[in-house]
Amino acid sequence: MTTKSVHPVVGIDLGTTYSCIAYIDENGKPVMLKNFEGDILTPSVVYFPIGDSEVVVGKEAKNQKAFEPDQVVDFAKRAIGRENSLFLAGQGRYRPEEISGMVLKKLVRDAAELLGASIEKAVITCPAYFGINEREATAQAGIIAGLSGYNQPHPNIIPEPVAAAFYYGSLREDSSENVLVFDLGGGTLDVTLLNIDKGSVKTYCLGGDHELGGKDWDDALCNFCLEEAREQGASPHDLFEDPHTISELSLKIEAGKKALSVKGKTGIGFTAGAKRYQVEISRDQFEILTESLLERALALVEEVFGDGRNKGISGCERILLVGGATRMPQIRRGLAERFPEIPVSLTDPDEAVARGAALFAKKLMVDDRVADALFGFREQNPETPPPPAVMEEAWDTVADAVGMPHREVEKLNLLSVKQVSAKSFGIVVVDHDENGEKRRICNLILRNADLPTSITRTFNTIRDNQNTAEIIIRENEEHRELIDPATGREIGRAVLRLPGGLPKGAPIEVRFEMNVEGLLRYHGKDLSSGNIIDGELQTTAILNPTELSDAIERSTDLSFG
Ligand code: AMP
Repeated sequence: MTTKSVHPVVGIDLGTTYSCIAYIDENGKPVMLKNFEGDILTPSVVYFPIGDSEVVVGKEAKNQKAFEPDQVVDFAKRAIGRENSLFLAGQGRYRPEEISGMVLKKLVRDAAELLGASIEKAVITCPAYFGINEREATAQAGIIAGLSGYNQPHPNIIPEPVAAAFYYGSLREDSSENVLVFDLGGGTLDVTLLNIDKGSVKTYCLGGDHELGGKDWDDALCNFCLEEAREQGASPHDLFEDPHTISELSLKIEAGKKALSVKGKTGIGFTAGAKRYQVEISRDQFEILTESLLERALALVEEVFGDGRNKGISGCERILLVGGATRMPQIRRGLAERFPEIPVSLTDPDEAVARGAALFAKKLMVDDRVADALFGFREQNPETPPPPAVMEEAWDTVADAVGMPHREVEKLNLLSVKQVSAKSFGIVVVDHDENGEKRRICNLILRNADLPTSITRTFNTIRDNQNTAEIIIRENEEHRELIDPATGREIGRAVLRLPGGLPKGAPIEVRFEMNVEGLLRYHGKDLSSGNIIDGELQTTAILNPTELSDAIERSTDLSFG
């Protein structure tokens, strides 16, 4: 930025189908950066040419899919943070974090070249409903790309709708309103109810669908085209056995879907079994084909409004459309028909997230510097909040250091961004009812809890002389406290060693703490001996430290075409 900070301040929207990057320019505004090919949007697609150590990321990789589908990896974000997920391309096997790391590396490298300065830190966005593993895996993708964050060794991760709302709030600095962000990207839908108050963002509640995005509209259109081609004489072998046909079709389908956003009908031509096929489709037909997808999306919006009412939030002044797929006219119309009293706005749907992430990075940069400027005061007065005169002086120091007006430093430093827990988190316990002992999950943090949050609960040993207590932590979507033990998925476990001779029913304390960024820590304590286990969550769904350093090494060995 303008400013005397040496490295550009950037925000990255790491999308399922497309990614983009924004930086803060010399006027303090978030501006999109073009990639080497001259485009703002970079397809999140990686091509591994046979016998080559070079990888190609972006448009050329996406185009190559029609010719060498086995050498191309896409949709890595749908698998990120999932247990044992691996992509095969040629001879190589890649974890989704590595693929996403390559996409980030391409964005950052092209941006640094354009700006003539190296990029070290970044804010990266993820869907709001991402759980712990997906967030950590996204941060690891950033580390693989060589990025760190503000006040921490890995990039800062913020939810896409929060970033979009932060940008939207910066455009309407004096307003205060409840907004529903409807974010339909290539692979995911995020629906978030939040409040934007003079630039500060407070999330009330959210819901998401991992398996609903523009790609599902593509798939519906693809099925229609395959069916039509069959009626025109194509055999199942021609259509389904040849990967080139499917790859060519997927490019044509996406282009056809986009055409239907601006015109009433379009044609899709492709080759199968050495014969050309031409399929005509109208927007009305396309909307009928995809009615059930729209309905799923609208049902999620209703659910989120319901969750909002349960939290006492009843009003919503605006629906904000974010994500490329909200350009389909049926989305805007569907929302306007279902919620006629709420205006629907479309503001830079492809760019709002990256711009908001860059603005948030600027705030974090300022917060970091203000914290440095207050260091001396805080050391001497650890219990006292800095008085106004000390704050004014700190803002002055930072304004001078980074070359920004004092008022702007003050405003950014005072803005707040509040999130909620995307999931519920509980531990597996043994519960008793009239039928005897039963394993259950006892949820300690419930979905949509305001962050930061912490909770301490006491449980009891179930046998005399029990020498270990296993703490199995499960993430789930349920709003209730006691649920079936198979619900959701395990995200970590730890063993608490107990001293011998404890009677059945000895107390064990478990404490969960979730910080403002949604990262979970747990503590277990055997109250009889005072023995404590503290932990970071360790899970096989993300890379362990050795796998991470191997991935970093592999990524430095690759050159990017
Ligand atoms: P995003 O992840 O926000 O970049 O959204 C990508 C998705 O938006 C992909 O499925 C694109 O095909 C879709 N998309 C982008 N532009 C349009 C458009 N004009 N009409 C329909 N879908 C679009």
